[in-house]
Amino acid sequence: MEIRFEKAKTLKEKPDQSALGFGKYYTDHMLIVDWDKDQGGWHDARIVPYGPLQLEPSTMVLHYAQETFEGLKAYRNPKGEVQLFRPEMNAKRMQESNKRLCMPYLEVEDFIQCVETLVKTEQDWIPTAPETSLYIRPFMFATEPGVGVHPATSYKFIIILTPVGNYYPEGVAPVKIWIEDEYVRAVKGGTGFTKCGGNYAGSLKAQEKAEAHGYTQVLWLDGNEKKYVEEVGSMNIMFLINDTVVTAPTEGTVLPGVTRDSMLTLLRDWGYKVEERHLDVEDLMEAARTGALKEAWGTGTAAVISPVGQLCYKGEECKINNFETGELTQKLYDTLTGIQWGKLEDKFNWTRIVK
Ligand SMILES: *Cc1c(COP(=O)(O)O)cnc(C)c1O
Repeated sequence: MEIRFEKAKTLKEKPDQSALGFGKYYTDHMLIVDWDKDQGGWHDARIVPYGPLQLEPSTMVLHYAQETFEGLKAYRNPKGEVQLFRPEMNAKRMQESNKRLCMPYLEVEDFIQCVETLVKTEQDWIPTAPETSLYIRPFMFATEPGVGVHPATSYKFIIILTPVGNYYPEGVAPVKIWIEDEYVRAVKGGTGFTKCGGNYAGSLKAQEKAEAHGYTQVLWLDGNEKKYVEEVGSMNIMFLINDTVVTAPTEGTVLPGVTRDSMLTLLRDWGYKVEERHLDVEDLMEAARTGALKEAWGTGTAAVISPVGQLCYKGEECKINNFETGELTQKLYDTLTGIQWGKLEDKFNWTRIVK
């Protein structure tokens, strides 16, 4: 793929690395590729100054939400090189999301080329302070103007970049999780396994409810019976019950997380018993009451790991591991972040140097 470059006339000042937050600052450039049915598909890949887009009010994504996205990071390793973590998994997942939403998609190599080319252009934006990174947000949406309902005939694929701070400046800290028993996120046959904006729009109501009760995130139950534990707002979730790690299977309603897959691989490599199975929420609460539930943690690219210190289900609150980060949770966090930032041996060949 040929990518044209139009350099920004003025470059922005780089933000203070100790106060980056998450998504507060965007880099100087963005990458755009257009897809038009009547122009034979993908064309006009370009890196241009970061800035507003002009769209017709009838642009189809604004009405019918054909939109998908991805999230990954670029890391500065101790040698000063730039590396990505399993970007082919994001490329493939975006293909699956797009297929479900009747959208065209990039080939895996093209997706990675776009990410690498933009990251290389903006490499001065990759922060160097410990556990900071450059968050990469590829997304795609329907641009065809019209109010008839059908798969659009034109799209934009865009990548924007934002330097992000250390998620845990004071060390990994547990969160309180609200188990939602009224609203649902995904049903069998729906779009639960895709990273599409619509999934998030539909889940804000429960998030608001959780926050009103003093909880940080929602733990979703399956949409058919509201009985089995699925995942947390923007993370997958794992439970250490006695000596076995249990997590929901990815059968269409749960997002197949890259972090999830990586942690399951590490756990199996370390000899843990791992079960990808349906876990009844009543059994989970019983395990929390008796202490059989030793640790629980959420997994996702942004935080890597979020220890769960407390659950609330139908008014019953249960602490886990005395609201402290568990030993296994901490070991997973240290190992995965060690690999991602290039400080530990990468025996699974997960990282990819951007040359
Ligand atoms: C992105 C996402 C995850 C985590 O996926 P990673 O690839 O590990 O970042 C989990 N659940 C939902 C709903 C998500 O959107």
